[in-house]
Amino acid sequence: MKTRMNELVEMLNRYADEYYRLDNPSLSDSDYDKLYRELVELETAHPELILPNSPTHRVGGKILDGFEKYTHTYPLYSLQDAFSFEELQAFDERIRKEFPQVTYICELKIDGLSISLTYEAGHLTIGATRGDGSVGENITENLKRVKDIPLSLTEPLNVTVRGECYMPKASFERVNLERQEKGEAEFANPRNAAAGTLRQLDTAIVASRGLASFLYQEASPTDAASQAQVLVELNKLGFCTNHDYVLASSIVEVWEFIEQIAAKRNDLPYEIDGIVIKVNDLAIQEELGFTVKAPRWAIAYKFPAEEKEAEILSVDWTVGRTGVVTPTANLTPVQLAGTTVSRATLHNVDYIAEKDIRIGDTVIVYKAGDIIPAVLRVVEEKREHQEKMPIPTQCPSCTSSLIHYEDEVALRCINPHCPSQMMNRLEHFASRDAMNIAGLGTSIVEKLFQANLVKDVADIYRLSVEDILQLEGFKEKSADKLYQAIQASKENSAEKLLFGLGIRHVGNKASKILLEKFGNVEKVAKANAEEIAQIEGLGQVIAKSLATYFGSQDTQELLLELKATGVNLAYTGQVAVENGKLSGMTVVLTGKLERLKRSEAKEKLESLGAKVVGSVSKKTNLVIAGSDAGSKLAKAQELGIEVKDEVWLESL
Ligand code: AMP
Ligand code: ZN
Repeated sequence: MKTRMNELVEMLNRYADEYYRLDNPSLSDSDYDKLYRELVELETAHPELILPNSPTHRVGGKILDGFEKYTHTYPLYSLQDAFSFEELQAFDERIRKEFPQVTYICELKIDGLSISLTYEAGHLTIGATRGDGSVGENITENLKRVKDIPLSLTEPLNVTVRGECYMPKASFERVNLERQEKGEAEFANPRNAAAGTLRQLDTAIVASRGLASFLYQEASPTDAASQAQVLVELNKLGFCTNHDYVLASSIVEVWEFIEQIAAKRNDLPYEIDGIVIKVNDLAIQEELGFTVKAPRWAIAYKFPAEEKEAEILSVDWTVGRTGVVTPTANLTPVQLAGTTVSRATLHNVDYIAEKDIRIGDTVIVYKAGDIIPAVLRVVEEKREHQEKMPIPTQCPSCTSSLIHYEDEVALRCINPHCPSQMMNRLEHFASRDAMNIAGLGTSIVEKLFQANLVKDVADIYRLSVEDILQLEGFKEKSADKLYQAIQASKENSAEKLLFGLGIRHVGNKASKILLEKFGNVEKVAKANAEEIAQIEGLGQVIAKSLATYFGSQDTQELLLELKATGVNLAYTGQVAVENGKLSGMTVVLTGKLERLKRSEAKEKLESLGAKVVGSVSKKTNLVIAGSDAGSKLAKAQELGIEVKDEVWLESL
């Protein structure tokens, strides 16, 4: 048992390393899952044998009470700044006076948060924030959820290493999109997002955010002779190190590297805010030593912020599907970080008030995390007689009165029949992570809505080809295609439906967890809030939101309508019930059933973990046959597949 667990942990950690650090996995995701599940089973049965470096420590929610202070054994330093070539030259001259042959190493300055990791006998024991450099916070549990941070090293060493924990641009975009959909405030940039994430008390959230790391320093005494060697050794120990570094023997070469990186900065998958220049030789570093604030042997060149002045021409207020009204400024066009920007978010009413932004103002625009343009501040000197920004009191879509809850920065329209909200809800329902109805995007939704063909999501399933043909731009073929896409979506596994309903705080992950647990949407609707709150990965907020949503009469009716139109409400995704009697089996129903309705039989099979499909093939494990079963039964017999009847099914 113990050896199998050892073996599994070792294998799983190796594959994770291949995946995250080497970007070269030798195992498919599904094989990984299989081994992972085996480990979970063994650990559940023998919790006393759980290994400290088991990958299961990386997942699973724990709600922390708070973070304890942690006194760093080796303090973390900050860096002196440089903003120009001249400042770098001055730095170089100071060093070259004493060490004429000095070589520098130039590394990317990753825009995240400093972290310190301590390993004892090769196992991660402490992960901490920088704090003031001497005392930080112990965030070990959260750092274990950063998937590329090794829980154990390739050698049983006692070391403390330093680096940066950051949020890749892709994770940042995804996280903000999810927040937008849930009506939550978006993060301003990846660094804020990473910082906010590492301060989370719910570790499941940390695990879901896709943070990553680069390590670059050994704080405990090292045998390495140079910083370049440190990077190589850290990498060998299993850490992610950044490969974009160069050695430079003059400050001109340093500057060339800076220019080269500045040019490709926007293409990097993570944010950087500069280049760190360090003396490469560790013996020279030691001789140079520290000032009160920072090492004498390093300097951080900071890129000039990508900021431009622009004038606010007007402001659009738009209503999202949750009713949140968002202000967007229309600007005089400016070039920013490689693109032309003519619109920028003003976030929310509180932001406008706080920065006192007015129409006609000249403002500083910047790309928040180089992605979404935003307004940083007003250039006060250029203000003339602009009046305070008028804040709408009525919904721009339905004219009902807007609400500004005290505990919220957003302005909201709370009219459930607000056209803009309804259209956004329909669009969300059809979107990829939801019902994934190809061809049902913004403009078609708008046309259907305006033609009075679709008001709520159930109406989508009442559309006929003729209805669609009424819309401008549709021909037989295209109408039929959309119709087929709609029909096909009825068969989706129901977590897509649940997510598509757009329940506040219920994202696609939560939807999946709920359906895996309860099997179908109706059961989720009836589930007890306390029970939901206890489920790993869910919690109080989601439980409450579900209770409110399913408690409404409108929702109950909507569910009935969806069911009546033939939309599948059951979870049919991967092995729904892990320990069900029919887990992993593919089952076909055929013939006339006497005692059960077909949908009931299907539901029952699914609740036992089976996947129900329409036709018999070599992959079918079982056929449930009623009377007058025809070709499917014949085929099953021909293939030697087990055949049972409904009495047998009922007995399970
Ligand atoms: P600053 O916060 O401007 O004083 O810059 C110092 C910070 O830069 C350090 O605390 C690190 O968190 C961060 N940093 C990012 N990348 C590097 C790197 N390659 N080497 C050293 N520090 C880095
Ligand atoms: Zn409205």
